[in-house]
Amino acid sequence: AEPPPAAAVPQAGDPALTLLRRVGTTDPASLDDYRANGGYAALRRAFALGPAGVIREVTDSGLLGRGGAAFPTGRKWQATASQPDHPHYLVCNADESEPGTFKDRVLMEGDPYALVEAMTIAAYATGAHRGYLYLRGEYPRALHRMEHAIGRARARGLLGDDILGQGHSFDIEIRRGAGAYICGEETALFNSIEGHRGEPRSKPPFPVEKGLFGKPTVENNVETLVNVLPVLTMGAPAYAAIGTERSTGPKLFCVSGSVARPGVYELPFGATLGELLTLAGVRDNLRAVLLGGAAGGFVRPDELDIPLTFEGTREAGTTLGSGVVMAFDDTVPLPRLLLRIAEFFRDESCGQCVPCRVGTVRQEEALHRIVERTGADAAGDVALLREVGRAMRDASICGLGQTAWNAVESAIDRLGAYE
Ligand code: NAD
Ligand code: SF4
Repeated sequence: AEPPPAAAVPQAGDPALTLLRRVGTTDPASLDDYRANGGYAALRRAFALGPAGVIREVTDSGLLGRGGAAFPTGRKWQATASQPDHPHYLVCNADESEPGTFKDRVLMEGDPYALVEAMTIAAYATGAHRGYLYLRGEYPRALHRMEHAIGRARARGLLGDDILGQGHSFDIEIRRGAGAYICGEETALFNSIEGHRGEPRSKPPFPVEKGLFGKPTVENNVETLVNVLPVLTMGAPAYAAIGTERSTGPKLFCVSGSVARPGVYELPFGATLGELLTLAGVRDNLRAVLLGGAAGGFVRPDELDIPLTFEGTREAGTTLGSGVVMAFDDTVPLPRLLLRIAEFFRDESCGQCVPCRVGTVRQEEALHRIVERTGADAAGDVALLREVGRAMRDASICGLGQTAWNAVESAIDRLGAYE
């Protein structure tokens, strides 16, 4: 047995955990260990409920997508299940590439059968017989663990034809990404699987109607799917009682940067940013926290009472995104950090639409000039950044261009980055 690196899950072994309860304590290679620790109880309940019953439970649980956009999972499943066009597909988005995000890696490395079971349930509920696991290319250990788990599940009749003698057929194929951030955007991901360039498609139509190979497709993040297991084992009302009214259930947070214990933390929605940072051992000279990743926004050290919920972060003018919490102490040169973020977006823009293709270059150039002048005479470039940022946000095709200016804008407005 190879346990995941203990440092990545500082709470490992805590009996209060739900999503991480097996990570670091059970053997990720052993299907028997998985079953002995609650594995496959959720699939049995799913078969007892039937597809419509599963969707009802997921809807009543209030589960919102954990990839970053917080779309209601039950609504997505219902919309796919009701499409008359067939076949239906299931795609698990494991192309975890948002800077500072590493929760799905920990789940796949530490509890791979949970994802296999959850994908089987999602496919059963939405009428899919084929599932794709689109896995970030830079995650070789997760690939190895998932390949092993899929193979063992298949050998034991938990994938393939007539799963558990219930008449449902389903299998999973792994596709590896090749290092492009944009391929985590769901429609670029479909293009990548289909063998085309990884460029986003215009939405609508949404994937629930026309997704992979033009067919109805339910696309969910790894953490979203793994949440379906407690929804079914504890029941929707008990699950919905965790967290807040509008952000239900447990949530994984990826804490990195200027903290003593970086790693993936599980907390119920509603804990504050300050509580999370205290758990992770934040330093006294905290200067800023980046919430939601490069596409998210900075907050100040006097804003640590922000509740970690989708609605709470929105009301505070920021975002929870995929659960990134990056702490920066006052030794980190902020203008240099912003330039690094801009370089990232310029590098990862797929170039399909002008506002993003040109805007990310102009943004980087302006930030570069500011760094070169060590912050003096920044006003003209800040005005240009605002203009370019607005154009990217308003006119880009996909989320990459629409959010490429978020972090820089928040650093200017909330942190006074160039004052
Ligand atoms: P989105 O709001 O366009 O869509 C979210 C999901 O809901 C999609 O699956 C979409 O198909 C579905 N949807 C939306 N409206 C629908 C409707 N009317 N009917 C049916 N389905 C509907 O957001 P997005 O562009 O898919 O994702 C953006 C998010 O991705 C950002 O919040 C960002 O934080 C996150 N992100 C995460 C990572 C990561 O590594 N986890 C990387 C990059 C970005
Ligand atoms: Fe490509 Fe950027 Fe346009 Fe998205 S916004 S389609 S990444 S060029």
